[in-house]
Amino acid sequence: KELPADPILENSRRQVEKACFSYAAPKQTPNPSMIHISPEMAKELGLSEEDVQSEEFLKIFTGNQVLEGTTPYAMCYGGHQFGNWAGQLGDGRAINLTEIEHNGKHWALQLKGAGETPYSRTADGLAVLRSSIREYLCSEAMFHLGVPTTRALSLALSGDQVLRDVLYNGNPAYEKGAIVCRVAPSFLRFGNYQIFAAREDIKTMRTLVDYTINHFFPELGEPSKETYVQFFQAVADATLEMLVHWQRVGFVHGVMNTDNLSILGLTIDYGPYGWLEGYNHGWTPNTTDRQHSRYRYGNQPNIGLWNLYQLANALYPLIGEAEPLENVLEGFKTEFEEKYQEMMKSKIGLFSEDVNDQKLLDDLEENLQLTETDMTLFFRNLAEFKKEVENADSYINVVEDAFYIPEEVKGEVLDKWLLWFNTYQTRLDKESLTDAERKEKMNAVNPKYVLRNYMAQLAIDAADEGDYTLIDELFNLLKKPYDEQPQHQKWFAKRPDWARNKVGCSM
Ligand code: AMP
Ligand code: MG
Ligand code: MG
Repeated sequence: KELPADPILENSRRQVEKACFSYAAPKQTPNPSMIHISPEMAKELGLSEEDVQSEEFLKIFTGNQVLEGTTPYAMCYGGHQFGNWAGQLGDGRAINLTEIEHNGKHWALQLKGAGETPYSRTADGLAVLRSSIREYLCSEAMFHLGVPTTRALSLALSGDQVLRDVLYNGNPAYEKGAIVCRVAPSFLRFGNYQIFAAREDIKTMRTLVDYTINHFFPELGEPSKETYVQFFQAVADATLEMLVHWQRVGFVHGVMNTDNLSILGLTIDYGPYGWLEGYNHGWTPNTTDRQHSRYRYGNQPNIGLWNLYQLANALYPLIGEAEPLENVLEGFKTEFEEKYQEMMKSKIGLFSEDVNDQKLLDDLEENLQLTETDMTLFFRNLAEFKKEVENADSYINVVEDAFYIPEEVKGEVLDKWLLWFNTYQTRLDKESLTDAERKEKMNAVNPKYVLRNYMAQLAIDAADEGDYTLIDELFNLLKKPYDEQPQHQKWFAKRPDWARNKVGCSM
């Protein structure tokens, strides 16, 4: 209510000016059914077991009942897509139901796939089951990994069939429609601010920035030029922190457009994301980005910074001086290098300083890429390394399971690995931790279980047939990604051969 609303109350596709959002009611669906509910998220919101099992819950979170006293809305934003300004985008298939306070926390509840809004452009406002399963499982998994992220409360079938592709024979291909309820303190993106700057509507942008500061950065105090710079600094800090986490766990977002970057530094919009299996800076899960690989794993930090430049441009009219914004952007570079090094060191169990640490890390990253090494297996197994090792071959045994390449090729790079392990072992002597202590610390930053792309795909294939047991199994597995779960050992293994080039799909 503090932000300007679009006065037009219907969903015709149009440019919405001088407003931050448009009222939009979710679509009624013929035959909704609940597939899964996150108990952790329900609890955060103060919902009881009885609440979430109720008919009312099903109706509300599939868009079939609007809570009394609430006015669902879709937000207006723009964005740079793949480096180019794309103009107005907006919540084309997301509808915010309401915002609530619980236990001192503020939450926005949003349905994804609940029908058209003024921002749906040429599309239908709906989501299919496969992309919804991917978002549901991954956002809760990321939360449990300790990565800042939007959350998910529920995953439901709408009962509708959604048209997604036309097959080569000209027949339409229908898929099951689904609705995820996403939850976050706010879904504001860089693009929410950019759209007003692009339209030279500085008044509305200032209103939105002031609102953002008042609600989400209250510690910055009353809005002023100085506060706007501090706000930008806070966004840069949060973005940086999120990116270090992504690199730590091997998450590749896949579509880091400025409309998909949260102003709170939360991972948002799980589309064609993927998890690194073979450690490879050049890898992207996004098949439409394979030519330039703009959003490849190793480029995520640069893109984060590039996106911050775009946000700085948008905020500039409020500040009128480039220098303080440039300082923040410059600071990002050095800060990222420091934080990244610290994070990588923690992954290999180094907590003290040594002048050669950067070299040790560089060599490691090079070796990992030489042998196509499974990132998750490698770092997890490395924790088994002992300070005292009698023969050099046993170095390799520790991490052998992580190599995808055949024996004969491995021989060629083995020498490099032996060299690296030798240096590593010498370096470990300078650490005061015992093997057991180091292992415990490493296992707290190196997850044992992540949502490998093929795992999500197996859950999707089963769900297509109406079997949701794997969704539940993976959901529960990924609640404790750092714990040993012997009954789930099969998920701590290399990707099977058939899954080599399988990646997810966003739409
Ligand atoms: P994305 O690439 O998923 O971040 O989406 C970019 C823009 O396209 C956003 O404005 C989305 O709301 C919109 N969009 C994506 N899929 C659909 C859909 N099925 N219906 C309406 N809008 C969509
Ligand atoms: Mg998006
Ligand atoms: Mg998307």
